[in-house]
Amino acid sequence: MDRQQKYIENLQKMIRIETVSDAKCGSPKENFDRFHELLWEMFPHIKGVCKLKEFNGSLLLRWKGSDSSQLPVLFMNHHDVVPAAPEGWKYPPFSAEIDEGRIWGRGTLDDKGGLWAMFQAADELAEAGFVPSRDLYLETACNEETMGAGADEISSWLRDNGIRFEMVFDEGGDIVREPMAGARGTFAMIGVGEKSVANLRFIARSEGGHASTPGKNTPLVRLGKFMAYVDSHQVFDIRLAPAVAEMLVRMAPYMGKTGKLTEKADKLKGPVGILLSKLGPTTRSMVSTTIAFTQIGGGTAVNVIPREAWVVGDMRCSHHQGMEDSIKAITKVAEKFGLETEVFESSVESGMADYTGKAFKLVEEAVAATIPGVDACCPYLMTGGSDSRYFARVCDQCIRFLPFTIDAEQMDTIHGINESVDLSTLVPAVEYYKYMMQHV
Ligand SMILES: [Zn+2]
Repeated sequence: MDRQQKYIENLQKMIRIETVSDAKCGSPKENFDRFHELLWEMFPHIKGVCKLKEFNGSLLLRWKGSDSSQLPVLFMNHHDVVPAAPEGWKYPPFSAEIDEGRIWGRGTLDDKGGLWAMFQAADELAEAGFVPSRDLYLETACNEETMGAGADEISSWLRDNGIRFEMVFDEGGDIVREPMAGARGTFAMIGVGEKSVANLRFIARSEGGHASTPGKNTPLVRLGKFMAYVDSHQVFDIRLAPAVAEMLVRMAPYMGKTGKLTEKADKLKGPVGILLSKLGPTTRSMVSTTIAFTQIGGGTAVNVIPREAWVVGDMRCSHHQGMEDSIKAITKVAEKFGLETEVFESSVESGMADYTGKAFKLVEEAVAATIPGVDACCPYLMTGGSDSRYFARVCDQCIRFLPFTIDAEQMDTIHGINESVDLSTLVPAVEYYKYMMQHV
């Protein structure tokens, strides 16, 4: 069978098993078990050369290398997906239909596509008798989309057993054609870090009372004033991280007139940071902590002043300000409006990989050797979360990148409708992982 055809069929089989991790509408455990069986049917050689350890449905494999005295390297992806109701999809989300040169379905990009490419590469290498130069670990979690308990457990186990990694390679950025307005080129967006997340509740209280005789600054009014204030003020510190400056410098030759400014981003960090904070939501999120108000509640009846009302904020913390300081800054503003602040959920904080370091350079080399049509490799900061944040416990060079070439419009389909991957990007993706495994 033609190589691409075989790859298409393997990925289709993975998409067609629904492995939704969701507290309310998640897939049954049988589906996850069936998915694991499918992996070993499709990739028998990996199972032959690796030692498998299971952690409540998440898998860790160790592939022994010729020199186990070197620090090992971890490749990771996940096999759960977010829910997908069929409304709005061109093809049912778990049908893995082929049309317009793409496979359509939930998980094609996030992240069964990445998992497939990683396993396909390892399986072909194992079949050919390849032995890695040092120990390689492969990991796939079953609950990345719901706070990542699997990655938490596995990384804790690794730490407790004294296993550290020189490099970790997880999902993250893709190779994107025109990733932002004005950038005319195809860029490998290589994630070097991700923001941490804190979910906060702001509570306004009052004595209550009848709606016929309202006082001033009742709870809902105070919440409204608070949100309006945060919306129109820069509450958090702005700073252009060196990795973001480097991204702008590398994109500059493809950015026309704007490039004349961004090519100096590493020298003009202050003014460029301020400019980015004003250009729009995407660029603002790169240079400071952000908060989005996402839920609101309070009040019991139409004619009663609420004794308590609340609003929830989803806060994404920058590396330079950190979570503790970001919470302090927003709490100070909330106090001005007489609100209490409560943190009810927070993620672990992770560091930033070095874009001049060995792990990043290896990805650049692999992209150059295996993926056609890439203009530049750019470090970038992920605004979403990934399982690799947990692996900061056992590695300080976690790189977040998937070797699929996509359009900016395909980026929006991740966690949305009509998620799809181009057929033409499948063979290069396997070549990329093979190169990585052969050169670490
Ligand atoms: Zn993912």
